[in-house]
Amino acid sequence: MAIYNFSAGPAVLPKEVLQQAQAELPDWHGSGMSVMEMSHRGKEYMGIHAQAEADLRELMGIPANYKVLFLQGGAHLQFSMIPLNLLRGKGSADYVNTGEWSKKAIGEAKKFCHVNVVADASDKNCTYVPKERTWKRDRNAAYLHYVANETIGGVEFNWVPDSGDVPLVADMSSNILSRPVDVSKFGLIYAGAQKNIGPAGVTVVIVREDLIGHADPRLPTMLDYKIHADADSMYNTPPTYGIYIAGLVFQWLKKNGGVAAMERTNIAKAKVLYDAIDASAGFYRCPVHQADRSRMNVPFTLKDAALDAEFLKQADARGLLQLKGHRSVGGMRASIYNAMPLEGVRALADFMNEFAGQHG
Ligand SMILES: *Cc1c(COP(=O)(O)O)cnc(C)c1O
Repeated sequence: MAIYNFSAGPAVLPKEVLQQAQAELPDWHGSGMSVMEMSHRGKEYMGIHAQAEADLRELMGIPANYKVLFLQGGAHLQFSMIPLNLLRGKGSADYVNTGEWSKKAIGEAKKFCHVNVVADASDKNCTYVPKERTWKRDRNAAYLHYVANETIGGVEFNWVPDSGDVPLVADMSSNILSRPVDVSKFGLIYAGAQKNIGPAGVTVVIVREDLIGHADPRLPTMLDYKIHADADSMYNTPPTYGIYIAGLVFQWLKKNGGVAAMERTNIAKAKVLYDAIDASAGFYRCPVHQADRSRMNVPFTLKDAALDAEFLKQADARGLLQLKGHRSVGGMRASIYNAMPLEGVRALADFMNEFAGQHG
């Protein structure tokens, strides 16, 4: 039986990548060593690291005046590192609130500066993206922060805000590489790896060069982007094995047509699932406004929550795993990242139709 893993993160990886990693595990390319045993200063690992960065640059079309960093501490540490590095003497930053991850980023930034919430979707339980023309921005803000895809609420920006001269900062943890983005519109993009890139333990930061190097000298060394940028992410020991796997995922993406091809498949996958929800005559419901529905995380509830346990049990028996919704939302959530094949989403939609037929 085929197994399809709908976990929100850590999440499914491409089967081919796991198989390649397995084949290379004890002896990488005849080196006699596993990647996890190699010195990060040795030529083998240095090559793996440089290739991963080059492939990510190619996939995302990252301009030369941006640094690509492979850090640790997850997206959570970025919630602090961003204000600590990007305030540059300013006392205020703009944040959009579209859900749980926005709230966490805002909470952390408040420790370091005034946070101006330019738009707040919590008036409708964070089920939509507030229209840009309603945003109350501060033209003197140090930066403008938003979460490109709210992994828990299933709310995604289908557009990039126009931040003018204010550096735009985006948490792309759960939709990086799922669609093309024009990196030159951003000051900084960050993403924990465990959704759409690779194993947990690696955080990707893409930052415009002119924004770094202005931190308070008392800032702990490890929290300073400049230190990591100058050392090619090898100031200390990087998470070498995770970066190696991320590199294999980047090669897999390139082999499969890159980000544009991923976007086409992701649109098709999301359509299969939302169509199943919308055609269920109210048996399933997705609370998110149509235009702002995430292509990556599809939350839905059953018309009777008493059926949740039975739904999960039957799904499990069919190899459709990890569909339980986040504890703050309830119901179900299907995460359908790049590595989830269309067949997996079809299998879920077929099961949902059948289940609704039995219990509707
Ligand atoms: C998962 C997630 C985070 C938290 O990532 P950690 O690596 O656990 O710190 C932050 N933002 C978004 C959008 C996420 O999906």
